[in-house]
Amino acid sequence: MVLLRPSLVELQSYVPGRKLPGAVVLASNECPYGLLPEVAARVTELTGGLSRYPDMGATRLLDALAAHHGVPAERIAVGAGSSEVCGQLLHAVSAPDGEVVFGWRSFEAYPILTTVAGGTAVRVPLREHVQDLDAMAAAVTRRTRLVFVCNPNNPTSTPVGEAALRAFVDRVPEQVLIVIDEAYHEYADPAVVPDALALFGDRPNVVVLRTFSKAYALAGLRVGYCVGPPGVIAQVRKAQTPFSVSALAQEAAVAALGEHEEVARRVAVTVGERDRVTRALRALGHDLPDSQANFVWLPLGADSAGFAAHCLDGGVIVRAFPGEGVRVTIGLPEENSAFLTLAGDWTPTLR
Ligand SMILES: *Cc1c(COP(=O)(O)O)cnc(C)c1O
Repeated sequence: MVLLRPSLVELQSYVPGRKLPGAVVLASNECPYGLLPEVAARVTELTGGLSRYPDMGATRLLDALAAHHGVPAERIAVGAGSSEVCGQLLHAVSAPDGEVVFGWRSFEAYPILTTVAGGTAVRVPLREHVQDLDAMAAAVTRRTRLVFVCNPNNPTSTPVGEAALRAFVDRVPEQVLIVIDEAYHEYADPAVVPDALALFGDRPNVVVLRTFSKAYALAGLRVGYCVGPPGVIAQVRKAQTPFSVSALAQEAAVAALGEHEEVARRVAVTVGERDRVTRALRALGHDLPDSQANFVWLPLGADSAGFAAHCLDGGVIVRAFPGEGVRVTIGLPEENSAFLTLAGDWTPTLR
């Protein structure tokens, strides 16, 4: 018998959102509008070159991102989705018995990637669906190597504000890497959710994560990145699986960055729909937090699995976290309406 890593054997695998032919998919926080037009054109153009390895240095993408954010390219590292970048960051700082602190519930990849990187996950309970930054700072010990702050948080959709985030970053010791995951940045109101790049760009222990999977509609091509201090970024780059970001993904991301007007237009529609869905759910008697992302969180507790099963029966896939809540992605207006009709039909099962 091969000796396997006990921590990995015990680990629960990532549960991807379901896909069923013909169903409305509101389970994975994807953009419902398809590829951006310039991206679709570029992808078609590039298929002829796919027998070759991609540019390992992702030079064109790094330069485009550097121009986009107004920072030197040496402060940016890319990966096959920001999930891979999370893993690269963890590998860059990991140590035997190193602890990784994050709020819980939060992004389901954090505990998995932490364990795979050999770290120990420290889950700090949310307060009223919000990451408790005071408790998270208090959970930092001499063994802590990295802290994830997911802003806004997946799956609860809630942000942490500027004052709380500033106080937190000031309080965490400088040898601990603070990773601020802004996967839903484009959907957030800048007056409510601070832009961590603008706020902490000069901090030696803060890295900001962004992705092309959500507002840029590239979830299937796998590309994300982080921005941080050059000394950290150099190590994060080493931890990337060689050539993990395909040529298609690199070029599609460059094309997507050029389409900010279409991205902004789509985001505005999604934000309007999010607010419509939130109001409609509240009118049905649901108590849900204000969302700063492209999904809403229904804290249904013990009714979560039943609610998701009811939606599935009606042809709409949502994401249940049994015993906690249900996360519903904002889709096309007609998809959201189909969901709301089902939500209106639902009655909790008698217990
Ligand atoms: C969706 C998401 C990501 C992005 O994942 P990719 O690997 O870039 O597709 C990262 N963080 C959070 C919190 C997410 O919800």
